[in-house]
Amino acid sequence: MADCLFCSIVAGDIPADIVLSTDDVLAFRDIQPQAPIHVLVIPTAHHSSIGELAAASPEVTALLLQAARQVAVAEGIGDAYRLVFNTGAGAGQSVFHVHGHVLGGRDLTWPPG
Ligand code: 5GP
Ligand code: ZN
Repeated sequence: MADCLFCSIVAGDIPADIVLSTDDVLAFRDIQPQAPIHVLVIPTAHHSSIGELAAASPEVTALLLQAARQVAVAEGIGDAYRLVFNTGAGAGQSVFHVHGHVLGGRDLTWPPG
């Protein structure tokens, strides 16, 4: 999609530190990490949110969740990671190409102490 930052990363027009790449899913490090491990997992096709993706493409939704686990295991945080999908500007979504934040490498017990 034109004027979409993450579509530009998928196209290779904007560089990213890619950790996993398939036809359907891409994972790359967040440019402003909020944890020692902070990777974004996205579908290569443009969808605005996790809800929209789930409705449009259950298969790719499952692939996205499997990729998140694969990334967590590869990054050494398979036993303790958080997977966050901010949905809507009011919930902090700033890039409207669905992305899961894979976060780990520090204490993630909830609620924060
Ligand atoms: P959101 O706030 O939409 O849930 O998350 C968007 C995320 O994208 C933020 O954590 C932000 O740091 C990350 N981000 C924004 N621009 C870029 C970029 O150009 N490259 C990478 N790798 N991450 C980005
Ligand atoms: Zn996009």
